[in-house]
Amino acid sequence: MKRSQTFIRTTKNAPADEVAKNAQLLIRAGFIHKEMAGVYAYLPFGLRVLENIKQVVREEMNTIGGEELLMTTLQPRDIWEKTNRWDDAVVDNWFKTKLKNGTELGVGLTHEEPVVDAVSPYIDSYKDLPIYVYQIAAKFRNELRAKSGILRGREFLMKDMYSFARTQAEHDELYEKAAAAYTKVYERLGIGGQTYRTAADGGYFTERFSDEYQTVSELGEDTIYIDEVKKLAINKEIYTSENLVKLGLKKEDLVEKKAVEVGNIFPLESKYSDTLGLYYTDENGKRQSIIMGCYGIGVSRVMGVLAEHFADDRGLVWPESVAPFRVVLINIGSSSNVMKNTTEVYEKLQQSGVQVLWDDRAEARPGEKFADADLMGIPHRIVTSEKVGDGKLEYKARTQSETKNITLSELLNILVV
Ligand code: ATP
Ligand code: MG
Repeated sequence: MKRSQTFIRTTKNAPADEVAKNAQLLIRAGFIHKEMAGVYAYLPFGLRVLENIKQVVREEMNTIGGEELLMTTLQPRDIWEKTNRWDDAVVDNWFKTKLKNGTELGVGLTHEEPVVDAVSPYIDSYKDLPIYVYQIAAKFRNELRAKSGILRGREFLMKDMYSFARTQAEHDELYEKAAAAYTKVYERLGIGGQTYRTAADGGYFTERFSDEYQTVSELGEDTIYIDEVKKLAINKEIYTSENLVKLGLKKEDLVEKKAVEVGNIFPLESKYSDTLGLYYTDENGKRQSIIMGCYGIGVSRVMGVLAEHFADDRGLVWPESVAPFRVVLINIGSSSNVMKNTTEVYEKLQQSGVQVLWDDRAEARPGEKFADADLMGIPHRIVTSEKVGDGKLEYKARTQSETKNITLSELLNILVV
């Protein structure tokens, strides 16, 4: 697209009340808008990043057999009462609302209860299982602190998947398949190297651990102990000699780090299915419990982690897999030669399926265009000018400072199209 066609502008300063670096950068780049503390709108370029992250997550969930659906934000009170999660004394971060007649409703903070309700009509016999369903949708939580930008929102985007299995063994298989898919997701998003599967508390109704996916970062709220060789970690919350033995980890192999939880997977046993009356009949006509698992990824939190983790003093530095555009094209001057050259590059990239932003603003000085390209974090920069000359393009990667002159076909090689 052409820069002159968007209403988006970059700004020098983020709002004074915005303390988190991820939100400061994203606001300055024109990617998000702060509506109020913990609540952010995604502007067109920010939405592109979010959609790219969603797409990676979606592809990996589909690969393991996940079926996408979309559940509701408004939720009936009765199902939450059955599982004892309605009471504010039990779940302290509910947003609740009311119908005109006074009936109380929940504003979705998670979806274990509603998902059981939604699949119930379709599960009778052993032939209907196993299934995996997931959605990518907004969650609402009345978080006490909302000072970490999009890392901790009161409204945020989550991918939540739920598995339904016939036996513990079948559940374990689904669980490990999802774990492997999570590893792929974080690799594709560029944080595979610093994200660890981390044993954590499984919750009050299971003896098992849950698994968090923790990305090492100074801004993390969690403390984890990492075994670099095994590529595993244990959360400080459950760090005991007994648990180390259970996990086959040795104290002397572990390094303490701060980390951000970018996802987690939980064994739910049959707590929700039993309580809400969802069972199946086996081959012998006998009623059996359904073993569930749940699998979350903080989609908008991941965007915040990427924004903050890869930033430098000039701005954002998006990994290729999520960048809003892969190439920013900047023309210096508007002589007929330069315009012809730039148009050719722009059209060729578009034909090749490369997302390109042409900063065609006539009023902006080259220095402003360069600064914006850096702030927005677009991986590849191309400059056309009389000085670079006909048939040549000045190329610079966002992560480097030196430029080089290349041809259009060399550019296409760099972009592997
Ligand atoms: P946390 O301990 O960070 O509050 P959680 O245990 O409440 O997370 P879940 O309810 O399991 O997390 O949600 C799944 C994922 O959603 C988390 O791993 C995290 O990445 C993300 N997430 C949770 N709360 C928020 C929030 N307030 N804002 C943005 N992302 C969140
Ligand atoms: Mg929480």
